[in-house]
Amino acid sequence: MPEADTVWRVAQRLNTVLAGQPLRLVELRWPTAADIDLTGRSTLEVTRRAKHILHRIEGGWTLRTHLGLDGMWQVWRPTDMTPTSWHNPETRAVLGTDDWLCLGQRLRMVDVWRTSSEGEKLAHLGPDILAPDWNADVAASAAAALSAHGDTIGAAMLDQRPMSGVGTLWSAEVLFAYRTHPWLAARDVDPELVTEMVDWLRVMMLRSVEHPVPSVTGSQRRGERTYVHARSGHPCRRCGTIVRVQGIGPPTRQRPMFYCPTCQGGLAPGDRGGRLGPLGSRGR
Ligand SMILES: [Zn+2]
Repeated sequence: MPEADTVWRVAQRLNTVLAGQPLRLVELRWPTAADIDLTGRSTLEVTRRAKHILHRIEGGWTLRTHLGLDGMWQVWRPTDMTPTSWHNPETRAVLGTDDWLCLGQRLRMVDVWRTSSEGEKLAHLGPDILAPDWNADVAASAAAALSAHGDTIGAAMLDQRPMSGVGTLWSAEVLFAYRTHPWLAARDVDPELVTEMVDWLRVMMLRSVEHPVPSVTGSQRRGERTYVHARSGHPCRRCGTIVRVQGIGPPTRQRPMFYCPTCQGGLAPGDRGGRLGPLGSRGR
């Protein structure tokens, strides 16, 4: 799932091509967003908060999209497309200017809001790990909220309420970096360690924004970008133990968590250490 660093790059790209330009073509293939006509209005800017992409549009409107698990925004020169190219059942949004055509594919959320209501609509989100106004106080409050979480530390990292913008890749990687068992109760993890993890995430995700694809190791080569995420069945880069994966979080919203049982203090609950389960081949 695209996390704040990826979403940042997407919003930046959309901003480059859309800002200041009138929208000549707007199609929102989403039942609740279809009745507001944004055609003819200019995009003021495209920005993001956590994993939400926000197109601020003339007249006080915001188009909010979310990439979900595997959504994307594609940017095309209209001349490179045939008129049928965007008649794709996966296309949820089409935004065209004189020079560009932006296609939102497999988006998980599409909404048109009053720009003035953005804050209220996104009020459930905790501090955004890549917020421009991030500072030591914000970091401390995010760390305190993570430490006070009633679930495991892995689930707390994935929950967007204590801190937002982090998903399965970065939560697995930070817990590996700090040799922390993802299934430990958040309250049982040393709060100073949680503070260090938050600082690490901020630094690493800011650095990742500079890369075309997220990288924890510094390598941009496929299969070499992470230590544990999406590496189940492969040897740990630190100790050689086979990296494993298990669902984490509330039963109805389980997400894959990759980990090294040796570096991170044991198997996940329910993982008997045998062959990898059906999640073992999943992940990015
Ligand atoms: Zn290891």
